[in-house]
Order: sequence, then C-alpha cells, then structure tokens
Amino acid sequence: MTFDIIIIGSGLAGYTLVKDFRRLNKTASILMLSTDDASYYSKPMLSTGFAKHKSAADLAMQPATQMAETLDITIYASTQVVSIDKAAKTIMIEGSQQSIGYNQSLVFATGAEPARIPLPDALSGRCFTINDLADYGQFREHLGEHKNVTIIGSGLVGTEYANDMCESGLNINVISLEDAPLQLLLPKPLSVNVQEQLANKGINFHFNTSIKDAALAEDGQLQLELTNGTSINCDLVLSATGLRPRIKLAQESGITVERGIVVNETLKSSDDNIYSLGDCAQINGLILMYVAPLAACSKALAKTLNGELTAVAIPASPVIVKTPACPVVSNPPPANAVGQWQFEGEAPDLKACFVAQDGSLLGFGLTGKKVMERMKLAKRLPAIL
Ligand SMILES: Cc1cc2nc3c(=O)[nH]c(=O)nc-3n(C[C@H](O)[C@H](O)[C@H](O)COP(=O)(O)OP(=O)(O)OC[C@H]3O[C@@H](n4cnc5c(N)ncnc54)[C@H](O)[C@@H]3O)c2cc1C
Repeated sequence: MTFDIIIIGSGLAGYTLVKDFRRLNKTASILMLSTDDASYYSKPMLSTGFAKHKSAADLAMQPATQMAETLDITIYASTQVVSIDKAAKTIMIEGSQQSIGYNQSLVFATGAEPARIPLPDALSGRCFTINDLADYGQFREHLGEHKNVTIIGSGLVGTEYANDMCESGLNINVISLEDAPLQLLLPKPLSVNVQEQLANKGINFHFNTSIKDAALAEDGQLQLELTNGTSINCDLVLSATGLRPRIKLAQESGITVERGIVVNETLKSSDDNIYSLGDCAQINGLILMYVAPLAACSKALAKTLNGELTAVAIPASPVIVKTPACPVVSNPPPANAVGQWQFEGEAPDLKACFVAQDGSLLGFGLTGKKVMERMKLAKRLPAIL
C-alpha cells in the first residue's frame, strides 16, 4: 500500500496542514496516522473546559470518520508508527508486518509530550497530565465529585488550568519551583501581579518548593509533604511541568534531532522527503509550541508539498494566556536579546516593554486592561522568521 503523502499526527499541525494542502491539491492521496482517536479538536480549549463544564466529547469538534470524508484522506486512528525506512520510503505500524509507502513526502506532526518528574509512589494512579482530549476525559472521570486538586508547575499550562479549575468551583493549590507564575513569559512585576489576582480568586500558591513525600490518609485523601515543610491535602494531582517535543521516532529513524526535529525554513528535515511542523519541530533552531507559528508553517508546507518550494515567514505572535482572573498577553524577547525592561501602569493593569539600546522593541508583557495594546505593540516587533 502506498500514498503520495503520509502525515504522522492528527493534532492541529496535522489537520491544519491537510486543510491548507487540500485547498491547493484535491487529488494527491494522503494517509494520516494517530495514536489517539484522531478526533479534530482545539488543544487550547482543554484549559478552558472545566469552567464551562465541558466533557471530552463536548470538546471534540469532529470525529476522524467525518474528517476523513470531508478532507478526502485516509485516517488510521489509534495506530502508532513504530519505524521508518527512509531509503525505501516506507513506514511500519505497531502490530502489522506490512509496510506502508509514501511516493512523495512524509510529515512529522507528532507534537510534544509532558515532561515527567519523579514522584512518590503514593501518587500512583492519582497524578495526571492533561495534554490531549483523552487525558482530559480521564482526568474528569477520576475527578468525579472530588473538589481538591493540586497542580505541580506554574508555567502557562499549570496557570491556565489553575484559573480554569478554580473558576469551575474546585479548590486549587499550585506548587512551583519558581517564585512566581509564568516566569518564562513575563518579567517579575507582572508575574507577581498575576499571582496576586489569582490568589484573590482563592488559588493557593506554594513557591520555591516541590513535593518531598506523599501518603494516603484514612479518608482516602492524599497528604502531600512539601520540601518547605508545608503539607497539603488533596484528591488529585495534575502535573504541568513542561512539554518536550516528541522526537523519539525521528531519532530512531536516523533523522537529525536536537531539542526538536531539526528542519530548515522550508520545514525540510535532514532527509529530502521528510518534513516537520508543530510542537515537535525545531525550525532554524527555534521551538515554537503555539498555534500561530504552526498555522504559518502549515501554509508554507502546503505549498511546498504541492510543488512550490516555500520558506515559512512567521510574524511576531504574542501569546494570549487564558487566565480570565488576570488577562495576560506575552511576547518574551529572544533568549539572547540585549536591552532592558521598561514598566508602565498600576496593578492589575501593567505594561512591560523590553527595549534594545537603539530604542527598538524586542518583547513585551501586558496584564489587565493593558492587554488592549497587544496589536499595536505586536506591529513594532521583529518577525520570528
Ligand atoms: C493546555 C494547553 C493550552 C494551550 N493553549 C494555547 C493557546 O491558548 N494558544 C496557543 O497558541 N497555543 C496553546 N497551546 C499550544 C498548542 O495547543 C499546541 O502548540 C498545538 O496544539 C500543537 O499541535 P500539534 O499538532 O503539533 O501536536 P499535538 O496536538 O500534540 O498532536 C500530536 C499528534 O501526533 C500523534 N503521534 C505522536 N507520535 C505518533 C506516532 N508514533 N504514531 C502515530 N501518531 C503519533 C498524536 O497521537 C497526536 O495526534 C496550549 C497547549 C496546551 C497543552
């Protein structure tokens, strides 16, 4: 069996690419494979689903069968690709001896997976991650009528879930190694402001600490002992300690990987017939785990797969953090940027601009009412690529 194009992954990267490609080309045969059920859904909606009391089924926008029909593609759901033979241009899937070929191109859209930290045995079966629809459904199932959730991690994902779950009526504790939330996204005064607004809503933050030990109490609750001496009782733990590009399959197939699957500005990997986009890709050294960059990559790659070699252009893409208790927009400066932060406004409405010596804007953070300046500031930022 052979297809013109094979896409591994049915997340936003995989489906956006197929949609963009089909606008240009109606005839090429396409196979999409996914370890999950390949429902079409928007991952950012996972961290707004609790307050809206949505089930996993509510968040699934279309099942795989309907997507396959609409887009005129073949979808193998619940199917893991286990190896790739680059020279023969074939893939192997779990549980089958038959290889599947690609005439033209193979695309990695394998996303990112949650980073795992070592945790005490007592948390086994009570600690979850929520990185896809199935995770979301599983967490809700275990939550049932329980009310007390402890979240490990205060980055974007941990902070959004904290706000959303608190809004839904749950009691939330957040444990963090850092000393304020959203540290990679905001300068200190703004992240402290976010913490204060979320604390006003009832979220309890425990900073500069981690879980030292855990035990099961007689009433069935978990008792978490923190390294700072605090103890917390809760029903479930949500681990949100970061995401790592899913690169194992590419690596084992002899494709160059670093932190992500290494691709150039045309999204081509170290193999001429293999491309990558989305959370798993490292584009000209950059890992951009957001929807806007993924959409720009999809448009360029669709053209390339249709025979028009196209380099991706990614404009500055500020991130809207979904914390209604304290609206946040962030566009951090590049890691090696030279300049300084300039602050304006009064809490909760703060604006921080990272300005280079020549006066050019390299990044910004906004909270509260200042988020309204997002578009105006984004226009002044240099493009990402
Ligand atoms: C809670 C949360 C909130 C977010 N909010 C925002 C937001 O507000 N704004 C924003 O811009 N971004 C947000 N993001 C990030 C954004 O959702 C991601 O950048 C985007 O969804 C990534 O899509 P993807 O297709 O690359 O990966 P994924 O959606 O992870 O898809 C990966 C796919 O690959 C498949 N796969 C992997 N390995 C194999 C294999 N070996 N064989 C077969 N299939 C395989 C998986 O089954 C899956 O279908 C958020 C992320 C999270 C977790």
